[in-house]
Amino acid sequence: MSKKDIDWSNLTFAYQPTDYRYISNYKNGEWDEGTLSQDPNIVLNECAGVLQYSQSVFEGLKAYTTVDGRTVTFRPDLNAQRMFDSAKRLEIPPFPVDRFVEAVREVVKANEDWVPPYGTGATLYLRPYVFGSSPVIGVAPAEEYQFRIICTPVGPYFKGGVKPITIRVSDYDRAAPHGTGNIKAGLNYAMSLHPIMEAHRQGFSENIYLDPATRTKVEETGGANVLFVTKDGKLVTPKSDSILPSVTRRSLLYVAEHYLGMETEEREVLFEEVPDFVECGLCGTAAVISPIGCINDHGKEIKFPSGMEEIGPVMKKLRETLTGIQMGTIEPPEGWIYEIK
Ligand SMILES: *Cc1c(COP(=O)(O)O)cnc(C)c1O
Repeated sequence: MSKKDIDWSNLTFAYQPTDYRYISNYKNGEWDEGTLSQDPNIVLNECAGVLQYSQSVFEGLKAYTTVDGRTVTFRPDLNAQRMFDSAKRLEIPPFPVDRFVEAVREVVKANEDWVPPYGTGATLYLRPYVFGSSPVIGVAPAEEYQFRIICTPVGPYFKGGVKPITIRVSDYDRAAPHGTGNIKAGLNYAMSLHPIMEAHRQGFSENIYLDPATRTKVEETGGANVLFVTKDGKLVTPKSDSILPSVTRRSLLYVAEHYLGMETEEREVLFEEVPDFVECGLCGTAAVISPIGCINDHGKEIKFPSGMEEIGPVMKKLRETLTGIQMGTIEPPEGWIYEIK
């Protein structure tokens, strides 16, 4: 094994093809045995289901090197189960959970030279996805599908230290009640592109979405769940059927409770109680936690006491503990670290 000659610490979050991708095709009612391929291109019929009716779901997880030199991924079984659930909601034949985890192992093993070394802050980002590949013109699910895992090395999310961001309250909705907000469907991202670009044009990093039915409760941002800390040190996260069940959020709640001895609450969070919290953060695979310094509600600023200079003490501790578990410097809970052998 010899690692690729890459300036790992200066990589950005951009697609760079690696040597291998994993492919399995669904045809005649079953998934084939799957294979690794060196071809980064897909030849697709012009009427493929994904092109006409956006029938696609995806996942995101990372492979990286631990302090003692092991190549690992973090809780891939949860991504497998989530993709299974996402697929069912879009009438896509779900890819079996155990096969997903095995495909992750195979594709990371084949691309081991692309897994960034420990200490660079970089990771190998894995993007599993499934899409309808056979022609569809009347609105219906496709008959054939492709499951694919591509890999791309990405740099550290925060270069030069974790910095708080400012987000705005969005006038757009991310998810309808009883819609697809709780699954990882490509279509959820298509409709978020306009709100995020508009937010950027106005100088904000992200949108925070309220519940579409009443616009009184906090949901999440375009691609990350939200965490709050109360004055008495409790970790609170919004509960709603239209929030995407983040692996990072579920892991952080466990860490808060079992490693840091904190009380945690998953409950409805009214937007009007947000000024009472002392810290706020976004969580997801890419950043683990991004601290929020300020939420802009149509010109009215909610500034958290942790400020715009550095991450608050509780978010900092949570972030350090979870990254320590991931990197092998802190003992992980049973089954969290999946070693690639
Ligand atoms: C992927 C995603 C997240 C983060 O989930 P993780 O499993 O923690 O990476 C949060 N919200 C949305 C809308 C997402 O698509």
